[in-house]
Amino acid sequence: MACPPESSHDVHVRLGDGLFTALQQRCRRTGESASHVIREALAAALDLEHHTIYQVSTSGALVQGVYRGCVRVGDVLQHGDFGLGTFEGLDGEGILLDGCCWQACADGTVRQAPADALAPFWVATRFQADHRETLSAVSSWADLTGRLDGLRDSANLFVAIRLRGVFERIRYRVVCKAEPGVDLVSATNAQAMFDLENVAGTIVGFWTPSYARTINVPGYHLHLLSDDHRHAGHVLELQSRELSLELHRESHLQLVLPETPEFLKADLSGDPAAALARAEGDHS
Ligand SMILES: [Zn+2]
Repeated sequence: MACPPESSHDVHVRLGDGLFTALQQRCRRTGESASHVIREALAAALDLEHHTIYQVSTSGALVQGVYRGCVRVGDVLQHGDFGLGTFEGLDGEGILLDGCCWQACADGTVRQAPADALAPFWVATRFQADHRETLSAVSSWADLTGRLDGLRDSANLFVAIRLRGVFERIRYRVVCKAEPGVDLVSATNAQAMFDLENVAGTIVGFWTPSYARTINVPGYHLHLLSDDHRHAGHVLELQSRELSLELHRESHLQLVLPETPEFLKADLSGDPAAALARAEGDHS
């Protein structure tokens, strides 16, 4: 999916042992080519990818049951170190944090997603906080999102959100694998729910403007990964005495559309907002 530059130039650079070894290790770990790692690092250093969301498929397609994977986790990792998504066949919840991709499975287990795992929907970015603060005595999802609303100076840009801390109470769900064509509301009727107490972890996610509801889940979409990597999922409710909050405003959107037969044939003309609120919400 990652396209090579339209016209390219060969650049010869001499690297010391330390940098070269680190480059080789990175390539082995992620399956990326050395050229790709260098191009990405240079783009980041020159601020060419800052404030860019890289997204695979659309929320409207997900609502219609388009769950066949169209990019690999390794491709997503080339475009971001932070984000969320799901896997082939709606097989669990995905969390991308600090460049590692995790798969929360419906049986409650969490594993590192292999680079060749397929994904039908993903939202990623290179997270660079442009606002930080501490939130005290967060009593609920409604309380948290109300406070986050108050920090936003525009309803028209995307925002990446990272929250770290101990969650005295947290409720999350993990979707169960679904057959293609089963719509998202039906598929999420069979989700696994988890209620945990005193979990140290990080929440990653996005706020999406209402006008973009056919593209991404409008409002807040947050996934949890515990610090011990044993618990993860799509957050529904939470409570915390103190959270460190980081926000990253996003003004560029790179949208990668699947060319799978089911996507090409799907009717995406409707407004998926109500179905998304039922499938992704229920923050009661
Ligand atoms: Zn989710």
